Amino acid sequence: MRTHLIVGNWKMHKTAEATVAFIDDFLQSLHATSTEIDIALAPPFTALGAAADRLREHMRVGLAAQDMHWEEQGAFTGAIAPGMLVEFGVSHVIVGHSERRRSFGETDEMVNKKVKAALAHDLTPIVCVGEPLSVRDGGGAQAHIVTQTHAAFAGVPAHRIAHCVIAYEPIWAIGTGKNCDVNEANAAMASIREGVPGASHATMLYGGSVTPQNMREYARQPHVDGALVGGASLDPVSFFDLIRAAHEGFSGQ
Ligand code: PEP
Repeated sequence: MRTHLIVGNWKMHKTAEATVAFIDDFLQSLHATSTEIDIALAPPFTALGAAADRLREHMRVGLAAQDMHWEEQGAFTGAIAPGMLVEFGVSHVIVGHSERRRSFGETDEMVNKKVKAALAHDLTPIVCVGEPLSVRDGGGAQAHIVTQTHAAFAGVPAHRIAHCVIAYEPIWAIGTGKNCDVNEANAAMASIREGVPGASHATMLYGGSVTPQNMREYARQPHVDGALVGGASLDPVSFFDLIRAAHEGFSGQ
């Protein structure tokens, strides 16, 4: 169901010690404000325990994982199972990030298995979809992301998709400083809501070079429920400013 959500994806940044320092600074700022926006942090696996300890008392900030395997256990060296995330109090898991598709060979089929495994463990999948620049330039962006979303949710009933999070992240916008035009992002997200049963009720995030400066305009778009944020989530001041900007945008300021 649609809620306002901002997720910080830290990728391969921050030790457990740096994670605790971030959370302490960030919570201080957050205490001083009131916003209805749900917030989740996705630190590296090695910092999930430290983050969970620090966030235990803070209902407003949840914990997300950056990836997981779909199997319960087994001979999968280096992989993390869904139950291992649940043990740390993780509520969300990022699935199918373009960096995992590109650098780790993650396919639509694997993404689909991860989505189903997450749902089986009451983890909310944050399913990432997005087109490369060549597809965008060829005019096929919307068809591409609708197909990707269908593949990610193959076999998942619409009423369950409605409780998932879908992140539209044009690949060319991630980490480049070239954020997608807000109207184009909104139109892309509308195409997913229209083209995939259940997605009209899903929480939908935009991701790709979101900053405290551009967040407000995204939050004003009717199909945007929040953001998946990489670079601008690494500094507690910048992440807090971004959440404040989102709050202004959602409340029509
Ligand atoms: C991301 O990691 O999903 C992302 C959108 O990164 P950035 O905000 O740095 O572009």
